[in-house]
Amino acid sequence: MNKDYIFDFVDKTLTDKRKIHTEGVRKMAFKLCDIYGADKEKVEIAAICHDLYRGKSMEELNSLVKKYNLDDKYIDNPNLAHGKIAAAVMKNILKIDDEDILNAVSFHTTGRAAMSQIEKIIFISDAIELNRKPYPNLDKIRELAVTDLDKACEMSLKNTINFLKESNKTIDKDTLDAYRYFQER
Ligand code: FE
Ligand code: FE
Repeated sequence: MNKDYIFDFVDKTLTDKRKIHTEGVRKMAFKLCDIYGADKEKVEIAAICHDLYRGKSMEELNSLVKKYNLDDKYIDNPNLAHGKIAAAVMKNILKIDDEDILNAVSFHTTGRAAMSQIEKIIFISDAIELNRKPYPNLDKIRELAVTDLDKACEMSLKNTINFLKESNKTIDKDTLDAYRYFQER
């Protein structure tokens, strides 16, 4: 894993708008690391890479879905595809082989059952970083994030499920599994 190469690739790939969000996620993730404990080097790599392919054209995303043999359900679905593509590029181009880093990026949008500490930190940091535009329950999730990481994940997942239901969008199985997992803990 060559950190200089990774940072350089991230700098070239992210749009300026995405850089602001990414820096917010990095900062929030470090804060959660200080509270809950996690490998900061791994968390930093996951944070700066998580949205590498957010905001790219549908055409580019679809061709990357095919190139990396990702599931057809990611075709024409930038919201779900961008994290999966980022993880594939990190593994194949950036030569990152740490499963925890790759999973944190791969599942940052949906969550999943039995998430690791690093996965939870990236998932929640993405949802609450300080540049986020206000959305329902954001303040509550922010409060929970610094006291009970699992409860924060549960609430954030519930929020996502409610939002997707209200807007008649399909809810990914990983999101439903993740929500059930945190409810039962
Ligand atoms: Fe994202
Ligand atoms: Fe993000």
